Amino acid sequence: MLGKKRQIFSKINEDIILIHQDSMASMNFNTCNSYILRLRDNEFAIIDPGSSLKKLNKTLTQNNIDFENIKHAYLTHGHSDHVNMLDYLQEKNPEMISYIHPLERSYVENAVEYYELLFPLRMIENQEKFSDFITAIKFYTHPNSNLTLNQNFKMVFDTWNVKSRKVDKTIKHGDVLPGGLKVIHSPGHTPGMCMLYKEQDKILFSSDIHLSKAGATVNGDKCSVSEYKKSIKKVMEMVEEGVVEMLLTGHGKNPINSNLRERLQQFYDTITKKEVLILTILQKKEKMTIEDITNATFAEYIKRFEKFTHLDMFRDTICIAEASEMMGNYNFLIELERLNKVRKEVSEDKTFWMLV
Ligand SMILES: [Zn+2]
Repeated sequence: MLGKKRQIFSKINEDIILIHQDSMASMNFNTCNSYILRLRDNEFAIIDPGSSLKKLNKTLTQNNIDFENIKHAYLTHGHSDHVNMLDYLQEKNPEMISYIHPLERSYVENAVEYYELLFPLRMIENQEKFSDFITAIKFYTHPNSNLTLNQNFKMVFDTWNVKSRKVDKTIKHGDVLPGGLKVIHSPGHTPGMCMLYKEQDKILFSSDIHLSKAGATVNGDKCSVSEYKKSIKKVMEMVEEGVVEMLLTGHGKNPINSNLRERLQQFYDTITKKEVLILTILQKKEKMTIEDITNATFAEYIKRFEKFTHLDMFRDTICIAEASEMMGNYNFLIELERLNKVRKEVSEDKTFWMLV
């Protein structure tokens, strides 16, 4: 689409292959960076099997890796962009063992129910402003159907390959997985997100502490902004102590092996900047609904995607982005309320937010 041939995979070192996430231009938001790790001669583990089918197959073929040699699948968290090839790998090798933190297990095993909660349906269903969003959902599904928004969502999830998948084992903080990977529980983005640490190589697989320019991903309904901040700080400390020299992240360009401290700080600052932005917006009016706040923040958000706005698909996708921005704002407001900087008031069935 952009006329440039993109890499399918990169070798990080002798034992680690990165399968690149699909580009934004493909509009496949449902993929992540996956990593294949050699455990011994002909034994491998995959970290976050969330690449596209095509890239997964090509990477394995070109590196002479058979499916039956992928013995383990480590899931850093349960979002479908990190797990979408799990069932395919399980089918190819029924012996493969998959692992996830217990707080994430139900997102994978009851994915459809979980995804119904992901977008703030109750907040958007009756609003004129989101009629485009609802049209976009129908565009992905049945243009002339009379299905409810919820039923339509189910079909979008089908196109995104969101479905329930089985996980074999749970992991907890401090566990050491085959391949010598130490589990570091790092909640925030989701409650049970785990990073995986390869101590002897000073490499940290940091999942959605991903350092990409778009900033911290706070738009899930289970996100805790305060926990996310703590987890980013934890990575900063590991870098400062000199025990982490390379990050391999779930999204964005990799490997990340220079200016780690500064880049982590920039990522952390995307959170504090957003908090400041919301507080600034709230200064303008005595009280505001979450829709008012989102109108103001989304103008900033959309700038990140300027180079894609000429694409037809973008118009539809952006509606989903706006709804997820609103969910993110909700998570920021909860954090600001916790910090006693904002409070809310319910009147006439509406929730209003204001400065304390
Ligand atoms: Zn995620």
